[in-house]
Amino acid sequence: MKFSEDVYIKAEAELKKRQENAEKLAEMRRKQILNKHPELLEIENIIRNAALEVIKGIGSGKSVNVNALAETNLKAQKQKAELLTKNGYPEDYLEPQYSCKMCNDSGIYNGKLCNCHLEILKKISMNEYSCSSILAVSTFETFDLKYYSAEKDKSLGYSPREYMEASLDFLKSYAETFRPGKSSFFFTGATGLGKTHLSLAVMNRVTENGYSVFYGSADNIIKQMEKERFGRSNGDIEEEIENADLLIIDDLGTEFKTAFSETAVYQIINNAILNGKSMIISSNLSISELEERYGQRVVSRLNSFEVINFIGTDIRQIKK
Ligand SMILES: [Zn+2]
Repeated sequence: MKFSEDVYIKAEAELKKRQENAEKLAEMRRKQILNKHPELLEIENIIRNAALEVIKGIGSGKSVNVNALAETNLKAQKQKAELLTKNGYPEDYLEPQYSCKMCNDSGIYNGKLCNCHLEILKKISMNEYSCSSILAVSTFETFDLKYYSAEKDKSLGYSPREYMEASLDFLKSYAETFRPGKSSFFFTGATGLGKTHLSLAVMNRVTENGYSVFYGSADNIIKQMEKERFGRSNGDIEEEIENADLLIIDDLGTEFKTAFSETAVYQIINNAILNGKSMIISSNLSISELEERYGQRVVSRLNSFEVINFIGTDIRQIKK
């Protein structure tokens, strides 16, 4: 299987991040142990000095008693293991716990690409492919107003098509003149009315102009956050969101309802608002349904958002 250079670069970065994280965590555990058992430092010094003596000896050309040094080293290693197990820690507690035990997250095993590396490459290229293909076709130009009825809605005083046409123009100019901190939007309406299409159209235009966009469905974002919180993934989605100029949360309300997801939704939205971040949130729920689900504290955060009501008949029904 062949991958693009971009995919290889991203996979390298992912491996490096895994490795660094494993090492960072090991160092944190070491500090924790040192705090409680300072004698560890002494043992570490013995190990380090033994290794240094060997290197010095080789460098100077003088003979060194390698066997004696090896013995010292071994003894100290044993002491270290004992110190840990005696205090209820696993023997390898201070070793970095790499995601892949074969290659220690280097990506290379026995001179070949490790399986974990291959998995990462596949995952990245699949994501890129599925994202880019949907993204590529979802532009302002491909948004078709003919799926919106031209018949005037008596209670509104205008037709869905007129309303969508105005919304489309409005969003287009928003995207074209986007600057970080620009206003935020709440897209509401039934499934299949183009909320995702227009979110992606904004994303396309905004990224073309050099700004960064984080796009994700509420479900995916929360699942990823949960994995990271509980140590099942090494990514940092919260940092990615924080670094984006525009945050797009698609399909809010379709995520699985748990205590974690409820809090996470509030945290994401609240942090973004506190950081002055521009957002587009789309949902099948209306504002009042949103309030029922997430409570007043989430909904009150959306007060400053411009609301676009996607009205009309499910596009997928008409297209059939
Ligand atoms: Zn591996």
